[in-house]
Amino acid sequence: MEIKNSYNFQNTIQTVFPDTIASEIGLEEGDQLLSINGQKIKDVIDYRFLIHDEQIELEIEKKSGEIIIFDIEKDYDEDLGLDFSNPLIDHAKSCSNHCVFCFIDQLPKNLRSTLYFKDDDSRLSFLQGNFITLTNMSQDEINRMIQYRISPVNVSIHTTNPSLRKKMLRHPDAGNVLETLKRFHEANLEINGQIVLIPEMNDGEELERTMEDLYNLYPTLQSVAIVPVGLTRHRKNLFPLRDFTEDELLRTINQVEKMQKKCLESIGTRLFFLSDEFYLKAKKSLPQEEDYEGYPQIENGVGMTRSFLEEIDQALEKSKDYLNKKITGKSLKIAFATSTLSKETMLKIKEKLERDIPNLSIDVYPVENNFFGRSVNVSGLLTGHDLLDQLKGIEADAIMLPRNMFREDMLITLDDQTDESLSKQLEQEIYLGSWDGFKFINELEKVIDNE
Ligand code: SF4
Repeated sequence: MEIKNSYNFQNTIQTVFPDTIASEIGLEEGDQLLSINGQKIKDVIDYRFLIHDEQIELEIEKKSGEIIIFDIEKDYDEDLGLDFSNPLIDHAKSCSNHCVFCFIDQLPKNLRSTLYFKDDDSRLSFLQGNFITLTNMSQDEINRMIQYRISPVNVSIHTTNPSLRKKMLRHPDAGNVLETLKRFHEANLEINGQIVLIPEMNDGEELERTMEDLYNLYPTLQSVAIVPVGLTRHRKNLFPLRDFTEDELLRTINQVEKMQKKCLESIGTRLFFLSDEFYLKAKKSLPQEEDYEGYPQIENGVGMTRSFLEEIDQALEKSKDYLNKKITGKSLKIAFATSTLSKETMLKIKEKLERDIPNLSIDVYPVENNFFGRSVNVSGLLTGHDLLDQLKGIEADAIMLPRNMFREDMLITLDDQTDESLSKQLEQEIYLGSWDGFKFINELEKVIDNE
């Protein structure tokens, strides 16, 4: 299937921020940036690099078609105060791999087209923290990252074994990742790594080799997240893969914790961090907060649960008196919908809340993921249909849904249900509980206020 991405080629100015150089010289929304110091702007990396100067010459095409050159004197680091209608300024690069574990290949058909876009763009890594494989980058592009000091670079490493990486990514150029990482290391660019771990492929001895190789890249290599492969029930005609068994999960936890110990003793950081799924699926206690060292890879699901539990404790300590006052004279029953993986975590939250706010009673509903398959058990991949099938008719004053089952920018689930449509069909007030414990307690306050 050919997927078109949503980015257009446009250097169009979308916003001119007040009290900035751009507003002072009279730039306006809709003006086009043509060049800086005579250089055409290919993308945001060019832009950010070229504006770092004390004297710059901006070539602007006004909406009227008039071309104006502005000579600007500014402080070296001073921003111009512009935003573009497309933050990348040109097309986002799609990936050229055919990874055996690609989640997008395992999506059912007929979801919205943006979900099928496979990005692998170093500029998105820099702008939004996306992980890239480096396989679609020419030497010139790698040189440009080094020259422009694009950092941090977030790299999907998976393995440092060249032939295994080629096999996993099914790309002929995937084998030289360690060489490229060494170049970033020598150039002192900060790197974060990610490993998707697959049983009998890059785990065990292969993981040991990868961790040893990467250990040598500290301190430029700052952290490596290790996440288990995610498999849906829609793996038709794809490379045969399976989930980890509980024993294998436990073995991997032991292996990585041993490496963490070695790293902590020798370089002062654990460097390698396992995602929550390893501990939750293996039914093993989560590491303590300090073991996550400030949660450098929380976006990868590393430490999200521990951080949530800690934040709930802190938020509850601060606001329990206030919440108890608000709920005086009422008794509220709230349903917490959650993923099967997070059931135990939400039961802990229920216990804490019912202990501290006696007028509150909570029922926890783990929702099976029939849409992707039951082994997909994280809340971010729950769909509206599964929720409706499994929660219709429950008795509660309100339902709290996981906020991350909705896309960040719009309140829409993977199968295109909005919070409003879910609320209507469930005939219940819906609230969205974030994985940020403070926001979760704020949302709870709204439930108490409104119900
Ligand atoms: S890099 Fe691999 S996993 Fe990521 S989108 Fe491309 S094929 Fe899929």
